[in-house]
Amino acid sequence: MIVRNLQLVRDRITTACMAAGRQPDSVRLLAVSKTFGVDAVLQAATDGQRSFGENYIAEGVEKITALPSLLPAGVSLEWHCIGPVQSNKTRLVAEHFDWVQSVDRLKIAQRLSEQRPAGLAPLQICIQVNIDGGASKSGVAPADALALAQEVSKLPRLQLRGLMAIPEPAPDFIAACAVHQRVRELFDQINRAGTLPAAMDTLSLGMTADLEAAIQAGSTMVRVGTAIFGGRS
Ligand SMILES: *Cc1c(COP(=O)(O)O)cnc(C)c1O
Repeated sequence: MIVRNLQLVRDRITTACMAAGRQPDSVRLLAVSKTFGVDAVLQAATDGQRSFGENYIAEGVEKITALPSLLPAGVSLEWHCIGPVQSNKTRLVAEHFDWVQSVDRLKIAQRLSEQRPAGLAPLQICIQVNIDGGASKSGVAPADALALAQEVSKLPRLQLRGLMAIPEPAPDFIAACAVHQRVRELFDQINRAGTLPAAMDTLSLGMTADLEAAIQAGSTMVRVGTAIFGGRS
């Protein structure tokens, strides 16, 4: 089932890229495995999926530490933290994940940088933007995103890669495109300001329900859970 679902999601991404006049390989697929077990991750990995997203730190760390001994030799997975990170969890995150897409405060970024072990590559960072003031209050206000991006990009053990947003569900495709487009414009505006050491290359937008609209707006990474692993209880 997971293998078949993955193919359907890859087909959706390809179709959306073609509709948007984009190359299909310009959008990465992050498989959001939260609430699903090691077996589900293993099935997706066996089918070639390499990047996985987790919301809950303890649950994610459990899978991250269990998987290596179960995978075929030479296969390694890339883990993205996409859920809220409290101060008391930054060490676990810094020690185990490859990416954190949910940075919305400088204090958390500073702790992640300080606690990133020297032997690991810099932690790859997206700043989460609260684009619509939506009920999930996570995310920096759009007006403060550039300042936070500048501060994050100065931290030695972090590498700023881009922006992430979780817009509220939209009533239709046109409305979904419009809200995703606002994140795209903020992304372009920050890059155009030219005050970062390197341009951001990652726009993490789109989930099961709205990945087509996100790709239309320029997403470079869709985060898909339900369409791959099924419904969560
Ligand atoms: C759960 C989650 C997803 C995946 O959502 P689906 O609708 O199941 O595809 C993507 N991004 C974040 C931040 C999530 O928490």
